[in-house]
Amino acid sequence: MKYISTRGLAPAQSFLDILLGGLAPDGGLYVPETYPRFSAGELAALRGLDYRRLAFAILSRLIDDIPADDLRLLIDRTYTVATYSHGRPDSDFSQITPVRRLEEGLYLLELSNGPTLAFKDMAMQLLGSLFEYALARAGRDLNILGATSGDTGSAAEHAMRGRRGIRVFMLAPEHGMTRFQQAQMWSLADPNIHNIAIRGVFDDCQDIVKQVSNDLEFKARYRIGAVNSINWARIAAQVVYYFKAYYAVTAHDGEPVSFSVPSGNFGNVCAGHIARMMGLPIRKLIVATNENDVLDEFFRTGVYRPRASHETRHTSSPSMDISKASNFERFVFDLTGRDAAQVRALWKEVEQGRAFDLKSSGLFARVPEFGFVSGSSNHANRIATIRRVWEQYGTMIDTHTADGLKVGLEHREPGVPLVCLETALPAKFEDAIREALGRAPERPAGYEDLEQRPQRVEVMDADTQAVKDYIARHAND
Ligand SMILES: *Cc1c(COP(=O)(O)O)cnc(C)c1O
Repeated sequence: MKYISTRGLAPAQSFLDILLGGLAPDGGLYVPETYPRFSAGELAALRGLDYRRLAFAILSRLIDDIPADDLRLLIDRTYTVATYSHGRPDSDFSQITPVRRLEEGLYLLELSNGPTLAFKDMAMQLLGSLFEYALARAGRDLNILGATSGDTGSAAEHAMRGRRGIRVFMLAPEHGMTRFQQAQMWSLADPNIHNIAIRGVFDDCQDIVKQVSNDLEFKARYRIGAVNSINWARIAAQVVYYFKAYYAVTAHDGEPVSFSVPSGNFGNVCAGHIARMMGLPIRKLIVATNENDVLDEFFRTGVYRPRASHETRHTSSPSMDISKASNFERFVFDLTGRDAAQVRALWKEVEQGRAFDLKSSGLFARVPEFGFVSGSSNHANRIATIRRVWEQYGTMIDTHTADGLKVGLEHREPGVPLVCLETALPAKFEDAIREALGRAPERPAGYEDLEQRPQRVEVMDADTQAVKDYIARHAND
């Protein structure tokens, strides 16, 4: 299995070759040269497998340069009950991603029982195992530099803590995260985790990361890498739970199922697209956005118009506050019939701050073949949804999951099970829960004293040189 770039100008590479990198050298995103397809017989044989076996069956079709025994071991060590039992007390953690039945034909896929209480753990934890493995094999080490406004940074730190050959330098705004999110990162005592609080906003943090990464000499000398949302391995890891949920909510092979996905950078729902291309009978992939509705606009009109960063709205589902959807290019590549020249032309527009319109070219008419539909949600919608789900089903959901449920129900069809992906637990978004329910969110066991634990963070001005100096001092610890 080789990986090719959506822009068509980079050489094909194997999985381990693209694992530690980001964009392809031509600026594109890596995708499998062809999607491996499960036959009806093979799909039937996957029914009933536990999470780890299922993950191996799927990932071994996407990764052919890690020996099977090694891959199995990496998966088995990653998806343990101990790691995925931080969520609701009445969940069946042996399932790793249990499905919660709200009513006949309506389900919540619990993806947020990992250490940081959000779905990003599912992929990031595997990434941690794969990075450690690949670095050991290559006899190298890696300094991961990132900027976060909350979820990604904490998922990355919890995935990389204590890993051999890996250090994490995570920049976050000094103010602006919730106290819970701050504590999730800043209370980590592992010596390979470096928290840097910047006196500034998230954009300042991101600018510093860009400037450091643009200094190629520094980057090479200190072996700087990233764990960004376009990393192929993260998408691959997320494919697994679509299969897991499919088998959990169907009794017969071939039955169609629809999925609703709270979306920002299009990573999670892109994994659903890959699962569908691999043969899973997914009927609809429902893209749910918040007020930042770049993706909803595309799926309604055929126009993709990334916003300027000052147009991004700060919402109560902050992990979906995006101005452009970085994984969207992977889907457009497939929509064009894998025409890299066309993708290059489209993203030339995007990179110059312009929109593109796929309606006139006729491509937009092909979207239904891929099962995509969409909708958006706003603050009032999510508060109402949290309240209704609590009253009706006794289940507390977070703001992002509420966006997904709200939009998913708009596209629900009789007789087709609808699975809504739970992307975070309510404990992370206390203010919105108080507003909706007049009480504090439930907290999983082990998190009661999170904000009281001692914290370790280096506070700095938004000064790239100061950050570089800090990295240089600690890059060989
Ligand atoms: C990251 C995130 C999302 C958006 O997922 P994408 O893969 O970027 O589309 C949704 N909800 C939560 C809670 C997240 O952390």
